[in-house]
Amino acid sequence: MQKTLTFIFLLLLFSISLRSETVRVSVFNGYSLSSVVISPDKGKYLLVADGQEVDVIGENELVYFSMRGERLQVRSQSGSTGTFSVASLTAIEDDGEFSVRPVEPSMERVYYHGSLDISIEFGRINIINAVSKDLYLAGVVEAESGIGAPYMFYKAQAIICRTYLYGNLHRHADEGFHLCDEVHCQVYKGRLTGNELVYESVNSTSGMVITRPDSMLITAAFHSNCGGQTVNSEEVWLVHRSYLRSVIDPYCRESRSAVWETSIDAGQWESYLISMGLDNGNGRFGLPEFVFRQQGRNIFYSIGGLDLPLTKIRSDWNFRSAYFDIEISGPGHDLLIRGRGSGHGVGLCQEGAMEMAARGYNFIDILQFYYTDVRIMDIDKVF
Ligand SMILES: [Zn+2]
Ligand SMILES: [Zn+2]
Repeated sequence: MQKTLTFIFLLLLFSISLRSETVRVSVFNGYSLSSVVISPDKGKYLLVADGQEVDVIGENELVYFSMRGERLQVRSQSGSTGTFSVASLTAIEDDGEFSVRPVEPSMERVYYHGSLDISIEFGRINIINAVSKDLYLAGVVEAESGIGAPYMFYKAQAIICRTYLYGNLHRHADEGFHLCDEVHCQVYKGRLTGNELVYESVNSTSGMVITRPDSMLITAAFHSNCGGQTVNSEEVWLVHRSYLRSVIDPYCRESRSAVWETSIDAGQWESYLISMGLDNGNGRFGLPEFVFRQQGRNIFYSIGGLDLPLTKIRSDWNFRSAYFDIEISGPGHDLLIRGRGSGHGVGLCQEGAMEMAARGYNFIDILQFYYTDVRIMDIDKVF
């Protein structure tokens, strides 16, 4: 009994901290910054360096951080200055907001919620934004899907991004933060820029995540446009996922990224196929054999015994998707590539999901259409 109670107590404590804790995101993660200016634009911030309170920074005051070898030189507008190992700017009120403007290299200012830690790591300034999970998610949903989409779409996207967040909290554990702000984790460009609907979508789905029937979090893959049919996970990543099954998508065919075209030189195509292992002695294979049509989604382009994965062709030729036909384009003997969709095609198709939302489907309909046999659960019931 005693043991069971202790277990329940620990479980409760863990789930409370999961829900309430902030997330630590490495921002400007892909850049080698050596000098930045940081300025609160809402509320005051406490500047602490090497454990000592150094200054209070008011709204619109500037603090300069520069790399000096392995150390961080800090200079505030009010005149306090010094060289330290680490520094932090902590919001004195809960709803503090600030901006970061890289000076070296010079980049656009980005706006954030919450607090930040600054240090020098691997010869660059390392900035970690500590921000509430919901404010972080609102920024991610906007960065991953733009500002003009329907509300029910944003709710579906918010649940996807939250599922990713909880499934990947340990991704950068040995680096002292949870997630980076790049495609590697989820794209995060700071706080929302204008669409309050996005924040509302995060708020109104608070705690909701997508799971398999056995309550395990799913890998909630998504892409821009599937071109009319999504792809089984193993056809792109070699891993089978029961919930990432191919579905016929009637919703995305009129959308912005539904079709694309490009032409390539037939001689270059032939050289490419030879480099991939095609034996084309005596020019056995030419224009008529290069022609290729996909009715439903194929996995391979097959010619002369060579089976070339379409995903490989997509990446080698930088095509927008692996769902394309090849036709002869005319007098120049170029090949016309007619493609459908944009992205890897696995999981939720964003443009299809937007259309479903516009037609009145709710976020659960949308998620259950693109992810096979999944549940929408509260994160507290998952861990
Ligand atoms: Zn990452
Ligand atoms: Zn689609």
